[in-house]
Amino acid sequence: MNDTQRQQIKEFRGKGYGYGRIAQILSLSENTIKTYCRRHGLGGVVANPAPINGEVHHCLWCGKEVVQPGGRKEKKFCSDKCRNKWWNSNLDKVNRKANYEFICPHCKKLFSAYGNKNRKYCSHACYIEDRFGGAE
Ligand SMILES: [Zn+2]
Ligand SMILES: [Zn+2]
Repeated sequence: MNDTQRQQIKEFRGKGYGYGRIAQILSLSENTIKTYCRRHGLGGVVANPAPINGEVHHCLWCGKEVVQPGGRKEKKFCSDKCRNKWWNSNLDKVNRKANYEFICPHCKKLFSAYGNKNRKYCSHACYIEDRFGGAE
């Protein structure tokens, strides 16, 4: 085994390749690879195998890495548990309706209506007066 091969073994292990696959690529015996890796702290399960598909995002709740399946909708949470916790603590944000601002055509006052973009008058009184013309 030469230096280049040692370097390559380290690289391949970093990518999460198994001993057998590395042995094949470098035309060495699997045992040689295995022994070498164990002696140099490259054995066992590789701590950080690179994701095969696309990017890694972080769980919005716990910050754990979430590997994106790619081609599908973005996964924001590592688990359903985290998703539920996040939704429960963000209900007000999720449910917040827009605040619409209007100018009342009758009294010309600026007012805002919560979650209702079809409001026209600031009050029922203005609506009546504008519609039926100040019933004296
Ligand atoms: Zn999580
Ligand atoms: Zn008004």
